[in-house]
Order: sequence, then structure tokens, then C-alpha cells
Amino acid sequence: MPANKNLLLLPGDGIGPEVMYEVQRIIDWMDRKRQVTFDLTEDLVGGACIDARGVSITPATVARAKLADAVLFGSVGGPQWDKLGFDSRPEISILTLRRELGLFANLRPAIVLDPLVDASTLKAEVVRGLDIMIVRESTGGIYFGEPRGVTSLPDGRRRGVNTEVYDTDEIERVARVAFDLARKRQGRVCSVEKANVMESGLLWRETVAALHMREYSDVALSNMYADNCAMQLVRNPRQFDVIVTTNLFGDLLSDLASMLTGSLGMLPSATLGAPDASGRRHALYEPIHGSAPDIAGKGIANPLGQLLSFAMLLRYSFDMDEDAGMIERACTNVLASGLRTADVMAPGCAKVGTHVMGEAVLRELDKLNA
Ligand code: NAD
Repeated sequence: MPANKNLLLLPGDGIGPEVMYEVQRIIDWMDRKRQVTFDLTEDLVGGACIDARGVSITPATVARAKLADAVLFGSVGGPQWDKLGFDSRPEISILTLRRELGLFANLRPAIVLDPLVDASTLKAEVVRGLDIMIVRESTGGIYFGEPRGVTSLPDGRRRGVNTEVYDTDEIERVARVAFDLARKRQGRVCSVEKANVMESGLLWRETVAALHMREYSDVALSNMYADNCAMQLVRNPRQFDVIVTTNLFGDLLSDLASMLTGSLGMLPSATLGAPDASGRRHALYEPIHGSAPDIAGKGIANPLGQLLSFAMLLRYSFDMDEDAGMIERACTNVLASGLRTADVMAPGCAKVGTHVMGEAVLRELDKLNA
């Protein structure tokens, strides 16, 4: 009997618990119908944890996250905690987890599911079939580099400083994630920086090229300047398979790419750490949307981003490609049948709430599993 899979669920605030509940129903379904059992632990995080325990995440929860095979995160934050100082806000919980678990590679797929092709602001013929994976370095670069800060100059002016810093090992480990992903996809990586004007960008380009030559010559590697990449993502996004880039450029380009799909509530993400000697790595999965306080408690949130984050978890933490694919197909089929939550509503479709959408995915899973 294989060991159970140890999952930590952190639903958080706002719509987080509402969409996480729909994942729990799928976990229950997998236990009954697929004989896949998870050991589940659930814990408080974000504003809910501040209210109950005074901090957005406790050391005990971080310790639990380190022991888990994977963490599924909902979303945190809300106006009732906005008056707190920056260091004690709900959002600190996610930054703490990234730091403590060493999660350096943020994976953001931008996928256009066929039934939602008209939700994009771009023409359907430009985005139909889009399937890009953006790998963003997420613990280094200009958001963390030293020196940083605002200083006063002798003549009374003030100076703001942030520093882009990358060491070769930081570049190699994130490039490795991108190359490994490309091997399971279309076999193409585009490495994005500004090697024309930034020394750190030139080092990035040289380091990725050297790793490619040493270990990944079966993958096709190209390079692109970040400004051109932004333009190409809008002009012809399907030219890309996997994009690997720095923290700053990844922040911008992954938001741009997610909007090609036109549906915030639909998009999953993963953040991965380095593998240990046994190949096991820390990993956290979450939808890209926030806690959506404007619709929280109304039962109308789109649960598909959270369900698709769970599918990513199955694929990347447990190599369960078949089960992950089944959940992804079930979500697509439900949309194709004409059911929509309010955020992706289209003429001629039936508007449903969170729970009915989750129920429809379960019914579809039953069909796919028959
Ligand atoms: P948001 O993503 O919560 O909401 C933006 C808009 O999209 C809102 O109109 C919301 O109703 C809608 N939306 C988002 N997810 C949806 C879903 N699943 N179904 C239907 N509609 C959905 O972003 P925001 O309003 O800028 O932030 C709200 C709070 O969430 C803030 O406190 C922010 O700090 C926090 N936040 C948290 C995370 C996270 O937990 N990782 C990420 C982003 C924002």
C-alpha cells in the first residue's frame, strides 16, 4: 500500500474558503472513486489567523507546511485588515511561506480553454488554443537585492535605490525548472531578460545558455529582451511554450499573459522549491486571484482557478498526470456545456453559483471515470 499523500489546506479569507470547499469535494470523490487517499490538515492563515491568533501565520503552521508533500493555498486579505502595518498584514503569510519553504520558481500557466475563447480582449483567432507556461524567479532579483532604500543627499534631494542581483546558482535552478517543464510540453524555452542594457541580464543569458549546452540540448532555447517579449505576447502569444525570466520581468509578463485569457477566476499557479536528495520538493499551489471581498459570502465565486490549482498539485507534486488531466477536462466540459459563474458569463449561457459549478465538475468527473 503506497503511503498517503500529505496535504496542507490553507483556505484563508474572503472567497478562499468557498472555493477550497469545492476542492475538498473532489478530494473526497477521489478517495471514493479513484482509491486515492490524502492525509488532510487544514489550518488558519491570513486575516482569519490574525483574528484568532494575532499573526497571519504561526510557526506551527509553517512547520506543518514543511512536513506536507504539498500546500494548497486559497487567498488572503480584506478591507478589515488594511489598516494594519505592512509587516502584520494578511499577505505576509504567503511571503513567509515562500521564504521558509525556499519557493523560488513561480509557475503561471496562461491557457485559453476553448469555451472561453471569446472572454479574451484579443481576437479569438490570436488566442485560440493558447497554452503558455511562465516560470518566474520569485525569491531574488530587484525585489530583494541590496543596497536598497531611500537616502537623503547633502543637497537636500532624496535618492531611491533598488538593486538587481542574480548569482549563477539562482539562475541555474530556475532555468532547470523551465527546461524540465519544456521536456514534458512542446520542448521550447524562451529565456527573457535585458542583456542589452543590464549586466545581470547578460549573466542570466550566458548562464542559461551554458546550462542548456551542458544538460538540456534536446530542448530548443531562444532568448528575448523583456520589452520585445511583452509586445510578442500581445502580437502572437502562441509562439511561446515555456518562458523563463527574472522576478521583476516575470511579475509584469505573467500578469500580462494571464489577461490574454480574460478570466482571473480561472487561473491556477504553483511555486516550487529545490528538490532534495530524494527528489521531493516543497511546493505551494494557489489560484492567482485574491480574496475578492466584493463577492465574498455571496456564493458566486468561480471555483475553477482553485480546482485547476489542485490539478497542478496532482501533476507536479505527485506525477498524477491522468487524474490532473481528468480534472482539467471536467472543467472544460462543464464550460462547454454552457454553465458559467458570473465572472465569465456569456450570452446564451446559464449563470450558476460556486456550489453548482463544483457539483457540475463532479458529475463530469463521474462520466470521465466511467
Ligand atoms: P481580487 O483578485 O481579489 O479581485 C479582483 C476582481 O476579480 C474582483 O472584482 C473580484 O470579485 C474578481 N474575482 C477574483 N476572483 C474571482 C473568482 N474566483 N470568481 C469571480 N470573481 C473573482 O483582487 P483585489 O480586489 O485586488 O484584492 C482583494 C484582496 O485580495 C486584497 O486584500 C489583496 O491584497 C488580496 N490578494 C490576495 C492574493 C493572495 O492571496 N495570493 C492575491 C491577490 C490579492
